[in-house]
Amino acid sequence: MAIYRDQEIECMSREDMKKLQDERLAAQVKHVYENVKYYRDLMDEKGVKPEDVKSTDDLHKLPFLTKSDLRDAYPYGLLAKPLSECVRIQSTSGTTGKRVVAFYTQHDIDLWEECCARAIVAAGGTNEDVCQVCYGYGLFTGGPGLNGGSHKVGCLTLPMSSGNTERQITFMRDLGATILCCTPSYAAYIGETLHDMGYTTDDINLKAGIFGAEPWTEEMRRSIEKSLGIKAYDIYGLTETSGPGVAFECSEQTGMHINEDHFIPEIINPDTGEVLPDGEVGELVFTSITKEAFPLLRYRTRDLCVLSRKKCSCGRTLIKMSKPMGRSDDMLIIRGVNVFPSQIETVLIEQGYSPNYLIEVDRVNNTDTLDISVEMNPEQFSDKMKDMQEQEKALALAIKTMLGINPKVHLVSPKSIVRSEGKAVRVIDRRKLHD
Ligand code: ADP
Ligand code: ZN
Repeated sequence: MAIYRDQEIECMSREDMKKLQDERLAAQVKHVYENVKYYRDLMDEKGVKPEDVKSTDDLHKLPFLTKSDLRDAYPYGLLAKPLSECVRIQSTSGTTGKRVVAFYTQHDIDLWEECCARAIVAAGGTNEDVCQVCYGYGLFTGGPGLNGGSHKVGCLTLPMSSGNTERQITFMRDLGATILCCTPSYAAYIGETLHDMGYTTDDINLKAGIFGAEPWTEEMRRSIEKSLGIKAYDIYGLTETSGPGVAFECSEQTGMHINEDHFIPEIINPDTGEVLPDGEVGELVFTSITKEAFPLLRYRTRDLCVLSRKKCSCGRTLIKMSKPMGRSDDMLIIRGVNVFPSQIETVLIEQGYSPNYLIEVDRVNNTDTLDISVEMNPEQFSDKMKDMQEQEKALALAIKTMLGINPKVHLVSPKSIVRSEGKAVRVIDRRKLHD
């Protein structure tokens, strides 16, 4: 039986949801126009007045905001409330360049935590659960967001933050944690450490994991589910729109429901800005319709995915986004071919390798090179040179079949690639250093 945090909203008819969004959008545009000079100037430049945006059908009239706007307006240029009404600042993890800061009123914090609470309930969480949060705490939104959501649900919350992995497992066992929240790469590492410490899934009480903040494949999901004996749920968000909880997965595990009462999603063609119909891959754009302090309108996330209104077996009517395959800026162009690190991860795990790998791209004599170091599992390790070469060749061929380009594969010994406790860094592009 599916349970909901807020059944009225999560299962609302499309018609009622649109009405709610229309009202909130019109009020939000007015709020932003009156209080944020930076965006008012963009609207004026486009000749749009708040009165022109009466419903979601008018959304396309508004200008986009991009990460570079956020950098230009750093730190206060997009603030829509006096600082005296703000109670918190969070910041991006800076994966792609300079950090961005976001501001929250108490109302914004409450809504954000509610969104995370919906995710926890969708993963089966109740006040009977012990929720271990090992996303980083601090400026990064992962820890504070899930911590707040866990409190709202009434779970017993273990605010572990990331790191000290053996201690994570000791607490998990001693305190009977039932829900684990962290990045998927850290979940994989925790699973590996559990087994290295001589335990099995019988020695822990976990039932579910809520993993996000970085791209991860279905293959990675299955591998984590097996190693921790849980069901693994995806969660999505970004600092610019509050943090995790913008979208969350339900038991169907076929994409994440977007909290549409707070965020209106659009998919656009990243090159032309044209809005695309549901079902087409493009860049995800969000308009925050309830945030007070840092309400971004038509913010371009650079995340590529697909939206779907297909009926979901969980009963929720909230639109779903597919797992983002990566950001447009994660995409590598190697010898003219578009490559996402997630495509390589899929092949590696399918071929029985660990999710520990490093992709290195360079340019030698005007030709792009692609080197992939992949860690072997102890049972794959052989002291016969020839066996190893055969394995490398077979893996290179499987990757070539997927990508259309020939990589150089290096099998490296177990545990030689650095594990991630937060967002994993899996790509080094040296071409940028030469430019
Ligand atoms: P940074 O941009 O510095 O990484 P954030 O911590 O705010 O800052 O990260 C937000 C980004 O993380 C998203 O735009 C997206 O690219 C990625 N992300 C978050 N959740 C997921 C997820 N479930 N799947 C794939 N990518 C995700
Ligand atoms: Zn669902």
